[in-house]
Amino acid sequence: MSYKIQQKTINSKIKCSGIGLHSNEKINMTLLPAPIDNGITFKRIDSKKRNKIIKASYNNVSATNLGTVIKNNDDVHVSTVEHLMAAIWGCDIDNMIIEIDGPEVPIMDGSSGPFTFLIECAGISNQEKDRKIIEILKNTSLKEDDKFIEVSPSSEFSLDLEVDFDKIGRQTFSYIAKSTSFKTDICRARTFCFEKDIEQMHKNNMALGGSLKNAIVLNDKGNAINEEPLRYKDEFVRHKVLDFIGDIYLSGYFIIGKFRAFKPGHTINNKMLRKIFDNNEAYRII
Ligand SMILES: [Zn+2]
Repeated sequence: MSYKIQQKTINSKIKCSGIGLHSNEKINMTLLPAPIDNGITFKRIDSKKRNKIIKASYNNVSATNLGTVIKNNDDVHVSTVEHLMAAIWGCDIDNMIIEIDGPEVPIMDGSSGPFTFLIECAGISNQEKDRKIIEILKNTSLKEDDKFIEVSPSSEFSLDLEVDFDKIGRQTFSYIAKSTSFKTDICRARTFCFEKDIEQMHKNNMALGGSLKNAIVLNDKGNAINEEPLRYKDEFVRHKVLDFIGDIYLSGYFIIGKFRAFKPGHTINNKMLRKIFDNNEAYRII
């Protein structure tokens, strides 16, 4: 297989601000162009530690409870990276620096839409070096309780994802590189939760910034209580596709392979990457 795609970054720096879903703090974030082979890196500009840089890598994932957290060897962390990572993947970006003045990527509207818009406003340009990609060479699968992920060799990226939530039921989505548009079909899907779980999350100091502006909230019957209607009739599975893509892009490269996922979540998504990269014969970087 041969791939000739140039690496890409953004044309100019661009800023946004919003609140952190869990901390409820106002956070400012700047996306900046990055040099060839930089990959995606976060910089906590508010940190007093010596090393403020956190590489967006599966190796640096330190927690996966209600969002993906990455941390460097100086204990500097950034939470809820997955919606931004998905937007970066969806915009086909290899190299970017993200400066942030708080512990969490702003939640914005709970989707990747605002980040995708931001990247498009900054503009995207080719860089003078070919992209490295990960080619899956062997089937790898992982099962945990009722969750399951599998990847097999293929000539392109694809993802079949199925969810089965209480009160929502089964929803499936097939992402096929040729015919699915991240921007049209995925990026606006919002995160969601059940109204009955909010009290417990708040007791654990989680989701303190959560509101109807940044999440779909479902009542006991499984109906959304938000004024804004669902953006897709199967918005829930589409958001899980978005989360999966964001988590998997912590591989550091675009992956060519056919994924199948049943009830995935941040924990199993990260374990799956570790399992693939633990086996030298399962993949190659080309
Ligand atoms: Zn999410």
